[in-house]
Amino acid sequence: MAGAGWAPPRLDEFILTEPLGSGTYATVYKAYRKRDTREVVAIKCVNKRSLNRASVENLLTEIEILKTIRHPNIVELKDFQWDSDHIYLIMEFCAGGDLSRFIRTRRMLPEKVARVFLQQLACALKFLHDRNISHLDLKPQNILLSSPENPQLKLADFGFAQYMSPWDEKHVLRGSPLYMAPEMVCRQHYDSRADLWSVGVILYEALFGKPPFASRSFAELEEKIRSDRAVETDLVVEAVRKDQEGDASAAFSLYRKALEYFVPALHYESDARRKEAIRAKVRQYISRAEELKVLVTSSNKNLLEKGNPARELLKEMAKDKPRLCAALEVASAAIAKEEEGRDDSDALELYQQSLGELLLLLAAEPAGRRRELLHAEIQTLMARAEYLKDQIKMREAQSMGKEALAESVRSGCTLQ
Ligand code: ADP
Ligand code: MG
Repeated sequence: MAGAGWAPPRLDEFILTEPLGSGTYATVYKAYRKRDTREVVAIKCVNKRSLNRASVENLLTEIEILKTIRHPNIVELKDFQWDSDHIYLIMEFCAGGDLSRFIRTRRMLPEKVARVFLQQLACALKFLHDRNISHLDLKPQNILLSSPENPQLKLADFGFAQYMSPWDEKHVLRGSPLYMAPEMVCRQHYDSRADLWSVGVILYEALFGKPPFASRSFAELEEKIRSDRAVETDLVVEAVRKDQEGDASAAFSLYRKALEYFVPALHYESDARRKEAIRAKVRQYISRAEELKVLVTSSNKNLLEKGNPARELLKEMAKDKPRLCAALEVASAAIAKEEEGRDDSDALELYQQSLGELLLLLAAEPAGRRRELLHAEIQTLMARAEYLKDQIKMREAQSMGKEALAESVRSGCTLQ
């Protein structure tokens, strides 16, 4: 072996190349099989000295079992080898990296993506639990993605937790307790249900970009887990900040988004005290959002009026362009409909129809005063349409909120 500490170990049948990552007990390298196909694999080199809680033989038996396991959402263990210092696990290579990196580069995942990932994770866990195997170290770093383009989730780094005392200092310092069920952190009796706790934490992180009990110390983590406070979403924190900065329109839209999360939470919470706490929040957010809506509407009206002379001028300059004239007529109809204030979804549809046409015309419009006016008009119309869309959603969230409030009153929880 080369003298430098970081040089990859040597294996007869493989060429080891760059390190893909390292966890607590091992370093994983990308590698090629020397023979035939030059198959790409990932080789995990586990230092035997880290096997502090059970014999190497036990681990080898376990690996033998894992070798027989085949599931589309579990990283395939192709083979294993060992020498005096290391055990080498030869695995399928996952080109998409791990879920932790995947979430971090996207900040947070759309619900649609998180849903598919959760289904795939559930499939893998069901398969393992049917065979009496628990993972016990579920976290985004241990979940890999088959490829960056069409990522399929692959559960990795499992079956070893039993041998690797999950609570030793080294492990703990790497941040795992954030995903560990409390009974595990407290070294009490735990079983395969501990995996479900981790699944919840991972799902939350996928949706919000950070784990629900993100903490810097054990004391803080324990305090957060034990606390009765509903988990505050970043959305509310951000809404309050925008509100304080006087950005009513951003605050309004953030409160509306936050309500989309809190309203279902109110519906599903079974603990009476927590339900009461969420209900108080929902009411507070709805009433602040309603106040903001008034502010936003009046400032939008001002904007609209300011836009008028330019709009008239644009209409004047469009006289020799029948398509442009017609599209501007549709836009005027949308504005009239909106000001009438009876049917927002009709107005929205008219906005969208006119915008579709105007955008096409803008693409063909030569540079000049008319293009400038058209460009500005399109921006105003888009802002109006966006705002209407928000209002429609807000009303839906509100009526859901009121229904949920009414329902919890009916089901016997008294208000106040
Ligand atoms: P440890 O037991 O040390 O935590 P892991 O098996 O979790 O080791 O691997 C550490 C990191 O290496 C993972 O978080 C991942 O980024 C990378 N990695 C592991 N296995 C593969 C693989 N099969 N394909 C691609 N990257 C991998
Ligand atoms: Mg790991």
